[in-house]
Amino acid sequence: MAHLEEPIKEILVLKNYIDGEWVDSEGRFHDIINPATAKVIAQAPSSTKKEVDEAVRCAKKAYPEWRRTSPLARCRCLFRLKELLEENFEQLSRVQTMEHGKTIDESRGETRRGIENVEVATGIPSLMMGESLEDIAAGIDEYLIRQPLGIFACIAPFNFPFMVPLWFSPYAVACGNCIIIKPSPRDPVTQVKLTELVDEAGFPPGVWSIVHGEADVASAFLESQDIKGVCFVGSTPVAKKIYQMCGETGKRVIAQGGAKNFIAIMEDTDLDKTIPALMTSFFGNTGQRCLSGANAVVVGGSSFYRKFLDSFLDATSKIKIGYGLDEAIQMGPLQSEDAKKRVLSYIEKGILEGAKLLLDGKKPKIEGNYPSACFLGPTVFDNVTCGMSIAKEEIFGPVACIMRAESLDEAIGMIHKSSFGNAASIFTSSGGFARKFQYEVECGNIGINIGIAAPMAFFPFSGMKESFFGILHGQGKEAVRFFTESKVVIQRWWD
Ligand code: NAD
Repeated sequence: MAHLEEPIKEILVLKNYIDGEWVDSEGRFHDIINPATAKVIAQAPSSTKKEVDEAVRCAKKAYPEWRRTSPLARCRCLFRLKELLEENFEQLSRVQTMEHGKTIDESRGETRRGIENVEVATGIPSLMMGESLEDIAAGIDEYLIRQPLGIFACIAPFNFPFMVPLWFSPYAVACGNCIIIKPSPRDPVTQVKLTELVDEAGFPPGVWSIVHGEADVASAFLESQDIKGVCFVGSTPVAKKIYQMCGETGKRVIAQGGAKNFIAIMEDTDLDKTIPALMTSFFGNTGQRCLSGANAVVVGGSSFYRKFLDSFLDATSKIKIGYGLDEAIQMGPLQSEDAKKRVLSYIEKGILEGAKLLLDGKKPKIEGNYPSACFLGPTVFDNVTCGMSIAKEEIFGPVACIMRAESLDEAIGMIHKSSFGNAASIFTSSGGFARKFQYEVECGNIGINIGIAAPMAFFPFSGMKESFFGILHGQGKEAVRFFTESKVVIQRWWD
């Protein structure tokens, strides 16, 4: 298979996109490093408070006219954006691989999922339509209309640098709002490339902006009286903080947090079909997915348990690790050395807490000659119990914890001990088990014979417990509710 050409050939110096212009930042710059090759590919700024305030001021200036623009005219910008995204599909995907490390197929999947949100948002004339009822009393009719609110901010995580902001931004602008995006400072290049296409698509200046940085930029958003709502996706401690601060400052908020997802494997499942799905679930995106499998609960007798372990380990040991721009590669590096240190610390904890290390990923075989220290192979622990840190806390790396249960009830009890509620899956051929699982499990996204329960763009991206703070979710109709205010009009018709 081919080793694909890198789309970034010289070090890029990233800028803010404010008022429809690319503007230099006066903030400090840091390097963006390709985690597979260890080469610097870009320098990203930490935008200053003045720059963030300017982005808000320009969005505020753009809002009245954008709001008055008809939904169909707003949609035309989205249709143009969709076409440009398709034309640049491969380049955008390769940039993700270069700055994040995921394989090219994973990047292409992410690009597709992001574009689907643009497609769904082009349905805004129907999605945003209100309701009406005549004769609520003699000669009186009542209408519900949905109106945009103003300016929204989006604070994004590093693990899906293209897709996550698109859970929100197309809906925000389709509804007539303006949006300012702060990508993760760890991999902001993809959002800059996307914003170049936003610029080409012809959105009026100030409608869609990008600034860069860390917590201080997020604080500037939260302090601004002009920002009406925040869409945050990231770790649970930050999600909680953002949720609380939005409550205090009267802003709408979607705050999606971390995860620790359980996968129940029932004895009646077809292992030949289950194991490949589990490989993608546990090791896809190098385990850096909020929907990744983390704890595999094997439900059944000892001989099934042994058979499962053999098949799981056999498949795991065949995963090809290397630079994601090589199309034969199945798992890339972790996104940074810090991310790897964090995962290594959990591997040490697992050993100290008494779990059995069946497969140690610390010295992986790498395809090709890459000097990066970010590679880590799949790691598998057996004899894991619910009380261990590796079973309770989010590791965010290619580490599988194997656990055992005698019955589905016991497996569901284990899932309910977790503080997180993002996703859970079951592999079974029994309709009864599947129904019980989807009915009882307290998680926002449920997979039945699916290892990654990722909702399509026309369904909400859900979450429960410590994985989600808010009421409405991103994507589809719920995003439209989030980005609009309902107003009720009652009209009496004089004779
Ligand atoms: P993170 O919480 O470190 O950062 C997320 C964003 O918040 C970044 O833009 C970051 O710059 C900003 N930020 C960091 N500290 C902040 C602070 N104190 N105040 C305000 N903003 C701050 O998360 P991450 O490491 O970039 O992403 C990985 C996490 O995201 C994992 O926990 C993963 O499970 C979660 N995630 C959740 C979902 C979901 O749908 N629930 C989806 C993707 C990722």
